Amino acid sequence: MNLAQTQGIIKEMLQKLQEEETFFTELKGEQREKAFESAQEILTTTDKIIKSYIRVSKDDGRIVRIPAYRIQHNNIAGFYKGGIRYSETVSEEEVENLAVLMTLKNALHELPYGGAKGGVVINPKDYSDRELNFVSKKYVQRFAPDLGPTHDIPAPDMGTNEKIMDWMVGEYKTIHPGKNYLGAFTGKSIDNGGAKGRREATGKGTFFSYFWLVHEWTKMQNNLSFNDGDEMHKTQYQKLQSLYNKHTQNKEISIAVQGFGNVGSVAALEAYTSEKLKHRVVAVSDQNVTLYNQNGINIPELVLFQSENGNLPQSPAELEKIGVEAEIRDREDILTLDVEVLILAATERQITKQNMQEVKADILVEGANSPITAMADDYLNGQGKIVIPDILVNAGGVMVSYLEWKQDRITQLYTNEETLHEMYGQMSQSCEKVFNEYFERKLESIRQTCFRYATQKLFTLLYKHGKLF
Ligand code: NAD
Repeated sequence: MNLAQTQGIIKEMLQKLQEEETFFTELKGEQREKAFESAQEILTTTDKIIKSYIRVSKDDGRIVRIPAYRIQHNNIAGFYKGGIRYSETVSEEEVENLAVLMTLKNALHELPYGGAKGGVVINPKDYSDRELNFVSKKYVQRFAPDLGPTHDIPAPDMGTNEKIMDWMVGEYKTIHPGKNYLGAFTGKSIDNGGAKGRREATGKGTFFSYFWLVHEWTKMQNNLSFNDGDEMHKTQYQKLQSLYNKHTQNKEISIAVQGFGNVGSVAALEAYTSEKLKHRVVAVSDQNVTLYNQNGINIPELVLFQSENGNLPQSPAELEKIGVEAEIRDREDILTLDVEVLILAATERQITKQNMQEVKADILVEGANSPITAMADDYLNGQGKIVIPDILVNAGGVMVSYLEWKQDRITQLYTNEETLHEMYGQMSQSCEKVFNEYFERKLESIRQTCFRYATQKLFTLLYKHGKLF
């Protein structure tokens, strides 16, 4: 889903809401038309795009200037919030799209935040710790006037982590002496005001939202009926029932996880250790390889290897050394394996026009942002596959970021249990409203249902704030 496509769905959802007579009954005729036109204009454009170049002196003495972005899409629902990504492929369009998705995600989950995103065009693996420290401090220096605990609050994303957030908050404190600084960044280390459980939150939340659909939601349904011709919802529901039945028969569900970083490795471990719904993790992948074993892979060993080496084993010798049995395949192989569930936790545009017909998984879970293109999304839904979209499933991180931000303001720490309890509670509420609405009203896709909720909330706030005249 690129920026134009994300904006396209926002427009479509607003048009549908406008046609619904029961939505905002007090808005009629010309006034209604004007209000929806204004909302469309506001939500499909971005409040502020800041681009700068960060000057870094490399260890070899060279000076390089690196493009960097902070993009603030909308703050009608609260302070701007969104991660900072370090990746060679970062572009303005990508960061803007991610900022729009943050606005929608926060609105969908009723978090008191707007949407923003940041990016730096580097491959962090090519940079030493000293150089990364420099890049991170310079990023804060460049964007400091636009950041702050009651203005715009960054967090980690692809290529960044708690160490980088710690450096950034340190620099923010130096620039703003005497001001509240801890709440200026979330995803910090626990020693530095971070929330317990923040690092694992997105991966845990991603697995949980899928688990909740199969295990909790499906169990609760007893009277779901389908009209003739509604093959898509019917097939999807049958697939859910067949997975749920596997659980009641104590059989394993086969699952593959693309990406083995912060989100993917945690989601894979959740699947591996899940007791309520048993899984066999048959494949995992990263930017180099896919590791495959039809009988299941030892995920805890791989997590250990990844934390020490920064990637998955790439050779039979490395696998043998840690006692993991797996076939080494091309990194793209994971996308088309014969599995029941595929978690996408790597990067954008993984399932596209080119490979959508080869996808065999029945359920696709978007732990990453935008891993499925719009065309592939339509195709997969049409095939009766279930796509659980990014803005629903990968919100665990921002939910726990909210708790971190709150605890930094009241200087009272949440325990790990309290953090997870809050996150799972909030996630099940969001999942319940979305899955109920999708299956009861037989909407076009789960993604559209999420966008519908989000735009409805944003429209309401824009109207209440008097912005739609
Ligand atoms: P990360 O940098 O920790 O890990 C990314 C992983 O993906 C690595 O294992 C990397 O090797 C792998 N990868 C990269 N390109 C790949 C490719 N082409 N094929 C296969 N694997 C590839 O990043 P992360 O924090 O885990 O983020 C992953 C995704 O989740 C991103 O889309 C990010 O925006 C999204 N996300 C992250 C968070 C968070 O809290 N970290 C929150 C919401 C969404």
